[in-house]
Amino acid sequence: MQKLVLASNNAKKMKELNALLAPLGFEVIPQGQLGIPEAEEPHATFVENALAKARHAAQHSGLPALADDSGLCVKALGGAPGVISARYAQTSPDEPKSDARNNEKLLADLHGQADRRAHFVSCLVLCRSANDPQPIIAEGNWHGEIVDDYRGDGGFGYDPLFFVPEFGKTAAELEADTKNRVSHRGQAMQQLIQRLPEL
Ligand code: IMP
Repeated sequence: MQKLVLASNNAKKMKELNALLAPLGFEVIPQGQLGIPEAEEPHATFVENALAKARHAAQHSGLPALADDSGLCVKALGGAPGVISARYAQTSPDEPKSDARNNEKLLADLHGQADRRAHFVSCLVLCRSANDPQPIIAEGNWHGEIVDDYRGDGGFGYDPLFFVPEFGKTAAELEADTKNRVSHRGQAMQQLIQRLPEL
C-alpha cells in the first residue's frame, strides 16, 4: 500500500478520504500520528493555504502528503468569508470558533442585500515531496444562495443558510450521501482520484 500523509487531524475527513482512497491502494495516515505539528495558514487564497499545509507535512514525514482548504465565498461580500470561513466571527485569536456566531455574522453582513449568490470552495493539494515542482491540485465549487432563515439540521458550518436551487433545499436539509456526492469537497475528491495515476 502507498502511504499518504493527511495534513489534518479531522476524524471526519480521515474517514471520508480513507473510504475513497483505500480501494485504490492508499493508506491515509493523519499527520498527528507522526507527531507533525499543524502548519500555519497565513495566505489569502485556498490554494496557497492547502499547498503550505501539504508541503509542511511532506517535509516532516518524507512521504507524499495531501491537504485541503475550504470555505464559503459570498459574491456581495467580495468573496468573504473566504479563507477565514471557520473563524469569521472571531474578534481575537483565543476566542473559540463558533458556527452559530459565524452564521449570525453572515446574516448581519448581508442584511438588506438582494444579491445572495455564494459558493463553497474545496481545494485539495497533493505534494509527492516537499520540493514537488508540480503538485496535483483539484478544486471543487458548489453554487447556491444564502437564505435568511435557518433550515435543516444536517451537515455543519454554513449549511443551514446555504440554499441549493437544484434541490430546492439547504445543504443542511440534504441527505449526507447526496451532499458528499455533489458538494465542493465531493467534486474536488473525484477530480483528485482521476489524477492519482499521475502520482
Ligand atoms: P476547513 O477547510 O475544514 O477548515 O473548513 C473551513 C470552514 O469553511 C468551515 O469551518 C466552515 O465554516 C466552512 N465550510 C467548509 N465546507 C463547508 C461545508 O461543506 N458546509 C458548511 N460550511 C463549510
